[in-house]
Amino acid sequence: MTTDLSIGLDLGSTAIKMVVTDGEEIVHRQCVPTAPGQEILARRMIDKTMSTLSLKPEQIKGIASTGYGKKLFAEASSNIDEISANALGLFKLSGRSARTIINIGGQDLKVLSLSDSGRIVDFKMNDKCAAGTGRFFELVARLLDTPLEKFGQLSAAEAPVLELNNTCVVFAESEIVSLLARGESKEAIIKALHASVARRVAGMVHSKISDGDVYLDGGPAQNQGLREALEDELMLEVKVLPEPQFTVAYGAALTLFN
Ligand code: ADP
Repeated sequence: MTTDLSIGLDLGSTAIKMVVTDGEEIVHRQCVPTAPGQEILARRMIDKTMSTLSLKPEQIKGIASTGYGKKLFAEASSNIDEISANALGLFKLSGRSARTIINIGGQDLKVLSLSDSGRIVDFKMNDKCAAGTGRFFELVARLLDTPLEKFGQLSAAEAPVLELNNTCVVFAESEIVSLLARGESKEAIIKALHASVARRVAGMVHSKISDGDVYLDGGPAQNQGLREALEDELMLEVKVLPEPQFTVAYGAALTLFN
């Protein structure tokens, strides 16, 4: 194993993500749910990784933390804001082709526009409303008693077209309960959920799309049905990297190679 590695730690609102990189490849990754005592959880993740990969401390250049809890990890050699980390990480992993990033996290929704050198030229964030964020997906998963991992597959099935009209989570919750009581299928409700989140994203994105590739990242990007609904709504291709939840942690780790 090379001696030139760094660790990126994304202390997110919903999940803690950690990557080890040599500045190019992600050589190791781990994700655990956020819980009280984030700094202890993060330390455990690092210790476990060091032992799994048989790494010695001198092989690690440093630990860069990001995410809303970045300051909680006092051992970090540096902190970086999550927007810069997202742009850095995704731009590099996309082979420098990304010009728009739609990041859906546990509690917010961000749209970044990048220049052809990867500089952030525009930025929009919605963190006031839970609809359209990972928490909303988690709530619907609970209501439908269906794991999020199955949402992509279920929304690919034929189902009647339904509308979710409420854009506020509290009202959307009672709307979904009524749809279930009316006998509507999970498949139809999940499709309607994806379409409603896609409309919300499109409201933020339309004026921001520049030429070049559009990427979706963050945990909900693992849901293929959401990506397809976004493509339908935006009428363009939306790309997703193989591990979309780790781009921010990777971007943080990259800062230690500059
Ligand atoms: P944060 O950085 O704010 O903690 P993440 O980018 O880690 O947020 O995304 C967390 C969200 O990802 C969760 O709220 C959940 O909705 C979603 N998610 C996590 N795993 C999956 C999965 N396998 N399929 C679809 N969505 C997922």
